[in-house]
Amino acid sequence: MSDIIIALDGFSSCGKSSTAKRVAAALQYAFVDTGAMYRAVALYFHRNHIEVSDQRAIEQALTEIEISFVFNSERQASDTYLNGENIEAEIRKMYISDLVSQVSAVPVVRHAMVALQQKMGQKKALVMDGRDIGTVVFPKAELKIFMTAESEIRAQRRKLELLQKGEDLPLEDIKENLRMRDEIDMNRSEGPLKRAEDAIDLDTSHRSMDEQVEFVLAHVRRIQRENK
Ligand code: C5P
Repeated sequence: MSDIIIALDGFSSCGKSSTAKRVAAALQYAFVDTGAMYRAVALYFHRNHIEVSDQRAIEQALTEIEISFVFNSERQASDTYLNGENIEAEIRKMYISDLVSQVSAVPVVRHAMVALQQKMGQKKALVMDGRDIGTVVFPKAELKIFMTAESEIRAQRRKLELLQKGEDLPLEDIKENLRMRDEIDMNRSEGPLKRAEDAIDLDTSHRSMDEQVEFVLAHVRRIQRENK
């Protein structure tokens, strides 16, 4: 069966990464969480006091940033590394969520990340989740899924996720962060969050993780049958 590219786009906390990870495992495909890449850049900017308005500093920083993913057998998932340091836990914290959308809206940052992401997809056999995967990174991806969920449910899921990582934050703060990120992500000039015309919608509000994974895998099987 020929390998394909699966693009999972959509809003934060709709279950994109968890679904993508499981779909990739089922197909023995690579999985790339592009949000982690923008979070890594945001962490670097934070640590080095780089302002999103400082174009020169940003261009210099992008030459110094190396992002990689290393499989962690304990977690059965990949950890994100920035210049050789495991930053997986750090980039999931709220102060990075508060900064990342401003950083990811900077066009040169997007150009650099999109180029890296396109390189990762050269051999196909890839599940990539993000905001612009089906529209900008792989506009010819064989399968594009656009994920949504009710905002209350997204906030509850994010709260639980943060709690499991040791951050106990008021639900209102989480809602505000999601609202702010949606707005910036949808309205930026480069690679805004939007549904690709040929994407298939998946509302995860009332679906279990098993159902979400099966929804995607059923489409993979359909495409493979059609391509035979
Ligand atoms: O998916 P996650 O919530 O970790 O993404 C963090 C942020 O990274 C998003 O809110 C968005 O600003 C940015 N992002 C992006 N393009 C992608 C993936 C993430 O702009 N392909």
